[in-house]
This record gives sequence, C-alpha cells and structure tokens, in this order.
Amino acid sequence: MMSALLQFGTLLAKLQARIPALWLNDRLGQPLPSSAPSTALIEDAQERMARCAPLLAELFPELSDTGGHIESVLMPADKLKTALSGDSAASAGAWFLKRDDALPVAGSIKARGGFHEVLAVAEEIALTRGLISPDDDRRRLNTPEVRAVFAQYTVAVGSTGNLGLSIGVMAAALGFDTVVHMSADAKAWKKDRLRKRGVRVIEHVGDYAEAVAGGRAQASALPHSHFVDDERSDLLFFGYAASARHLAAQLQDAGRPVDAQHPLFVYLPCGVGGAPGGITYGLKALFGPHVHCFFVEPVASPCMLVQLASHSDTPVSVYDIGLDNKTDADGLAVGEASHLVAPLMASQLSGVFTVSDVALFLNLRALKSSLGVLVEPSAAAGVSGPQWISDSPEGQAYVRQHGLDMTQATHVIWSTGGSLVPPEELKAFHDHAEALARRGESALQTS
Ligand SMILES: *Cc1c(COP(=O)(O)O)cnc(C)c1O
Repeated sequence: MMSALLQFGTLLAKLQARIPALWLNDRLGQPLPSSAPSTALIEDAQERMARCAPLLAELFPELSDTGGHIESVLMPADKLKTALSGDSAASAGAWFLKRDDALPVAGSIKARGGFHEVLAVAEEIALTRGLISPDDDRRRLNTPEVRAVFAQYTVAVGSTGNLGLSIGVMAAALGFDTVVHMSADAKAWKKDRLRKRGVRVIEHVGDYAEAVAGGRAQASALPHSHFVDDERSDLLFFGYAASARHLAAQLQDAGRPVDAQHPLFVYLPCGVGGAPGGITYGLKALFGPHVHCFFVEPVASPCMLVQLASHSDTPVSVYDIGLDNKTDADGLAVGEASHLVAPLMASQLSGVFTVSDVALFLNLRALKSSLGVLVEPSAAAGVSGPQWISDSPEGQAYVRQHGLDMTQATHVIWSTGGSLVPPEELKAFHDHAEALARRGESALQTS
C-alpha cells in the first residue's frame, strides 16, 4: 500500500509537508464498477423526499413555507469572484454558492442524506408492521399509533457533529429512541442541542472512526435498532444524490446551460465522502462528462485523495502517510474514506485539492465580506476551487486535456454548513480570520 503511494512521489511529498495540492484523477471516465448501484435509486430517493414533504411540513414549522421540501438556494457569487480572482482567468466564468449551509432544520448538507435515511427507515418499519400501505399519505407516520411503535425502536449514529444533528433531530421528531455517538472533540453546542430534543448523546474518546465503530458495536447488540453508518450507508448516499435534479433546475433558471460548450465545475468539501460522493453520482447521472466534480480536503485529512491516488483496493488512511488528521474543519477530519464511495469516485471524480486551515478561515472571511454569508470553516473549503482550475499548472492541464472553454464555465462552490452555529462561535471564527488576515497570511500557504 505504501509502495503504491510512493509512485506519486512528488505529490506524496507535498501531502506530507501539508502543502496545498491539486491531484487530478487519471481514472476519470473509466466505466463504473459492475457493483455500482443503479441510478434508479436516485429517483427513489427524490420520490421519497417528495412524498414525505407534507409530513416534514407538519413536523417542523420552519418548513411550512417550502411545503416540507428540504432545498437550498443557488446564490450568484459574482462579488466573491471579483473579491478573489480580480483579472485572473477564474473570473471568466460565472460563480455560484450552493447554500446548503442554510438547509432548513439541520443547518448543513447532512440534512439531505440524514433525513432521507431516517424517513426510509420509518417507512420500512411502518410498512412491514402493516401500519401504513404503500400509497398512504406519509403524514400517517406522525399519528400516536405509529409513533408508539417507533418508540420501541432505536435509531443510532456515530458522528463528529453535523450528521448526528441531522439524524438526531429527525429521528427524535418521529418519536424514535435516538442515540448519537460523538467523538469527544465534537462541539458542545451540538451535543446540547440534541440533548434538548431528547436525544441520548454518548461521547467517545478518539476520532470520528472510533465514534462510528463504538456506535456500530453498541447498536448491533440491541434488538429493534437501526445504525446509520456514515462509512457504508447507501440510504445516506442516495439522499445526497437526490440533490442533483434540483440543482439542474436552478442552473436552468439562472440561464446556465451544461453541455460540451458550457462546462459545469462543482467544488465539494469531503469528509468520509458520502455527501460529496452522492452529489457527484447524482450530477454525473444527469450531465455525464460535462460536469467536473472536485473534492476539497484539509491538508491534514486528505483521505479520499490518498485512497484514490494510491489505486489501492484495500483501505489507505492519512495516518499511513504520516498525517495527523487534525483540522478545525468539523466534519472533514476523517482519516479513511468510505469504502462504499471511494470505488464509485474512482471513475467519476475529476480530482481533489487540499486546503490549509488558514485558507479555510480566509475563505470564510471572504464569503462574509463579499456576500454577507456566515459559514463554518468546513463550508468555506470550496471557495478556492475556481482559482485552482485557472491558476495552477494542474488545473490548466485539466482544462487543456478536456478542451474546455472556460469563458463559458459555471462554477458551483458548495457551502455545506453554518446556519445553526451559535453567534458567539461564528464570531470566534471571524475574529480568528481577521487576525490571520492582519498577519498577512495567504490562502495558498501551508498550515
Ligand atoms: C459532513 C460534512 C461534509 C462532508 O460530508 P462527508 O459525507 O463526510 O464527506 C462537509 N461539510 C460539512 C459542514 C459537513 O458537516
């Protein structure tokens, strides 16, 4: 495994020195593995979210405006473009910010996968126990009779924070006994928020993988329990993938075609890979070679990069190359990529770039000053994407190799979390960012 990585000598040296890098995927465009799940599952997920929308509107007052639909705005980001790229080639295309930081109820991208999985589990239990029939209005899941049954089941999840929030809030709202296993470094406000909703929060020493493993082991020992497995779940994956069609409609409304003459670039922060992987799977199913998806990972935690760049069929972790997986980017501190997602990305992902924690904070500052958008550090990871493509030798090579006209490009920077972060924590992020800016730190240097 180390020897496979050593073939990437210069890249490996950069990764080990925590120097931000752009890796291009040499297997892009190859066929998907024969085990790849059917894209019909993307439509199933879309349909599930649509038929459950009235239920969601009933469970969460904040969703009554949208009729229970969990969706986010596609925000034009020309001011961010002007602030960051000036006259650079990156300024040729149109920039947008996909505002999953403001997804209702859960405040992060995890609403997509997490809500989908809990709803799928609830439907399954209610159907197998004969409490509803397939065509029934899903608001029946919120009747006392059904809730009494859900109370006999435990829904558990292991998470550094945002997934726990999303699963915890939805499962508790449906009346499930709900347990969230968190790593000790998860933020206190996330634990408090869950406890207030009646969720049991169990803390684990160690990192994200240990919280997941601890939760998995405890849940498997219980009868009537469902463990939401962030490292392996296809229900999460397809919840994320279901976002693609709505984004396609938003791009069309914005007058941005996606085809051979009009490339779409999407920059997605990556932790274990489920959220960005699902979205990539959904977008590839719609746009094929005309969408170019790039993941962004912290310099200390490039787990998807090392997994894919090593071409290894067995797990490779960031610890294997001497990195410590320590970053301020909540949700992105993951040492080993999902074994479900990595093989699917091997032929679909255009590349991965890494970002220092300093850059995350400077990007967060740029989002605030140019667009007035306040996010958590992880959510700012994609901001340097357009410049990586236009200004780095690797990015320029990619554009040449694919014969792309970047003046017609649309760049979508996926902002992934922040609207539930307490104001005093947001202020601390911004104070830190201001201090870095005053010291003259640059977004491209190492952390
Ligand atoms: C979880 C998360 C991600 C990445 O999702 P993965 O499925 O872990 O790859 C990105 N940003 C935020 C804010 C998250 O909470």
